[in-house]
Amino acid sequence: MEKTPLKLLIAEDSEDDLFFLLRVLRKGGYDVTYHNIQTADDMKKALAQENWDAVISDYSMPSFTGVEALELVQQLDYNLPFIIVSGAIGEEIAVNAMRNGAYDYMMKDNLARLVPSLQRSLQEATLHNEERQREREVQAIATIATALRLLDSPQNMILTLHDEILKLINVLGLNFVLRSTHEDELRVELASGVWLHWQDQIIPESNSITGQTIQSGQPYITTDFPNEDYFARDRLGVQVSCAVCIPLIAHDETIGTIWLGRETPFKDNEVRILVAIAEVAANALHRARMMATLEQRVQERTAELQAMNERLTELDVLKSKFVSDVSHELRTPITSLSIYIGLLEGTDNIVKRQQFIDILKKQAQRLSQLVDNILDLSRLESNPDELAFETVDVNQVVQEVVTDLVPIAQNQKLLVHHQLADDLPGMLGDYNKLTEVITNLLSNAINYTPQGEINIVTAFDDRHQEIEIIVEDTGIGIAEQDINHLFDRFYRGSTVGQLSIPGSGLGLAIVNEIVKLHHGTITVESEEKQGSTFTVRLPVITPHTSMQDSNAQ
Ligand code: ADP
Repeated sequence: MEKTPLKLLIAEDSEDDLFFLLRVLRKGGYDVTYHNIQTADDMKKALAQENWDAVISDYSMPSFTGVEALELVQQLDYNLPFIIVSGAIGEEIAVNAMRNGAYDYMMKDNLARLVPSLQRSLQEATLHNEERQREREVQAIATIATALRLLDSPQNMILTLHDEILKLINVLGLNFVLRSTHEDELRVELASGVWLHWQDQIIPESNSITGQTIQSGQPYITTDFPNEDYFARDRLGVQVSCAVCIPLIAHDETIGTIWLGRETPFKDNEVRILVAIAEVAANALHRARMMATLEQRVQERTAELQAMNERLTELDVLKSKFVSDVSHELRTPITSLSIYIGLLEGTDNIVKRQQFIDILKKQAQRLSQLVDNILDLSRLESNPDELAFETVDVNQVVQEVVTDLVPIAQNQKLLVHHQLADDLPGMLGDYNKLTEVITNLLSNAINYTPQGEINIVTAFDDRHQEIEIIVEDTGIGIAEQDINHLFDRFYRGSTVGQLSIPGSGLGLAIVNEIVKLHHGTITVESEEKQGSTFTVRLPVITPHTSMQDSNAQ
């Protein structure tokens, strides 16, 4: 019959008694290895150095007693079966010993009970150990749950988990892999022990044990880690023989895994407790990440609203300024109108009256032009969608504007040249608005050029797919301090007033707005008394791309 191995620590001073004891045990089916001690010191050493299955102790020895031996075992919290075997023991002493934790007691001359008593004691100890282990596990899970509840950052949670798991289970490597919320990749968030070099590594989703565990939602357990060929890519080093990968599952979604590795196989109960810890951890991590995402969203939304608010305030200021500018600009011609009406009323002189009427007509015309410009600009700003996009031949626009304005230029003895590119593609634009752009630029060139010539050139920039319209004059030029303000509404150059050249300061603001709505740019180069060059660049957007599409990019 196969003998049961038994490792005994025996406190006994009599060799005969020891011999007899061992004989009974061996006969009872035990393969006994033992260590015999006779002093408290030896006992302490023996308990500290090795794991024993049970302790059998004489009641009274020359330098040591069974009561002291039991105390030692109890103090060191060894849940060891302790049986007192004595030559003579009083009932009272025996009861006390049992009360203090001895499993059993018996007389040396009646050892028939020894084997069954030992068997029962060993069973009891096993049960007791299991119970204690379970208590420890429940305690650990409760500690982890409480600790996680108090934390709010996923990083801190992982650190706590790491420490608590290490207290509970002996491992050589412990890693946490999480699916990152933004990039959707599996990242080693915390690596330790022999797997330290895996910190921050990205684990492939397919063909990896981690990926497989996440998909199946089942723990992966191996006792031959270095030879797992199939999942070659995330073998977290080959430093250990045994490994487990536990999925972190929260609300049916696996958010990562916990990896543990060591030399000895993981026991069922260890895997069981890891699964329980993983469940608590996954839910806490999920909650923390949801909070973090929510918080981030709230922050982004707040920033957006703040920006919008600032823009609205800015627009409000601009609107008020526009209203005050417009009132100011309208007041001058209206004052002038009322003055001439007064003069008209006060004179009977036919010639004078006609003169005043002519001035009034001209003033009324300018007023109407000003109101048109103001309305035009405000419509462009508030209703950019009103533009009617179609395929436009810019050369044709230039040609028409030149034809319209040449008589005025000729009136001022100005030469107007135009040079139109013959490879100009059609562009997507609003015909009337582009006409307005060129009309304003050419009128300005005529207005601000007392003598000399004006050139209008069109060209195609193939590389940038842009059409260029250049209006160049040999006029009064623009002072440096004016250049940056030319496109502001109602801005007029510092010298134009003295030269009494009429204008409203709205032409270039309108031009700028229309160019912007065509996704183009306008630039100016000028030197005082030499002339100015305005260059408009407009992208050729292929006719089948609508302007709306290009806005969406
Ligand atoms: P306006 O011509 O009615 O004053 P614009 O907005 O068209 O208004 O032009 C703003 C200012 O830009 C003008 O007052 C003038 O000082 C300057 N400017 C525009 N075009 C030219 C030009 N071709 N040569 C010199 N100055 C110009």
